[in-house]
Amino acid sequence: MDRTGEKIAAVVLAAVLLGTLFMGTVLPYQAVRRQRDSAPVSGSVPQGPFVALTFDDGPRTETTVRLLDGLAQRGVHATFFVLGVQVEGREDIIRRMDAEGHQIGLHTAHHAKLTGLTAEGFYEEVDSLRTTLMDILGERHFMLRPPYGMVNPSVQQWAGAPIILWSVDPQDWSDRDSARQAEHLVSRARDGDILLLHDIYDSSVDAALETVDRLREQGFWFVTVEELFALRGIKPEDGTIYRCLPPGNA
Ligand SMILES: [Zn+2]
Repeated sequence: MDRTGEKIAAVVLAAVLLGTLFMGTVLPYQAVRRQRDSAPVSGSVPQGPFVALTFDDGPRTETTVRLLDGLAQRGVHATFFVLGVQVEGREDIIRRMDAEGHQIGLHTAHHAKLTGLTAEGFYEEVDSLRTTLMDILGERHFMLRPPYGMVNPSVQQWAGAPIILWSVDPQDWSDRDSARQAEHLVSRARDGDILLLHDIYDSSVDAALETVDRLREQGFWFVTVEELFALRGIKPEDGTIYRCLPPGNA
């Protein structure tokens, strides 16, 4: 390589490094800002309140696709903690989630209670899904939501991922009243909350979309869990349990 070539290589490398750095800090804001292209907030970075809508146990074709359509119409990103058994045959839905800016996380292969497993059983449940998702999406670091929110020191030690629980739970699996669920979410949501729903029920899809519409009217911004970490300036740590990310805890 001659000196001009070296210079060009150095400039390209610097640009790539800067770009990586820049993406890490700025992408979440851009993602958030896209939500309100029709009504920009005086051109500045939004200050919140932020909430992360999360969905467990999917994907389920009938309900998840309708949810994705509804979120796309609203320009809102969510986080999906998926099950290995549900992903099989629905790889296109996982690719769509990713392409549309949603975050995808681990909810085990078969909805196992992780606290009752040996290390070997744990890796079968978690690593098999991690491998499946990497086959579909490429190499990346996935967050983990343990089924039933059941965690113990072994789960924390073996997770190899930040453990994401939740702070607002309308128990959408117990009764299928979407109006009650939306009221529960809207009345309780605070800045930094992680909201729990399941994208396998029609009522939960209705509740989610109503919640998005009502909370956005109140000035809330919907972000993925990863975006919420970035907005709070907190680095997610493997094995650490997070239930919410309120402001001022960085
Ligand atoms: Zn679950």
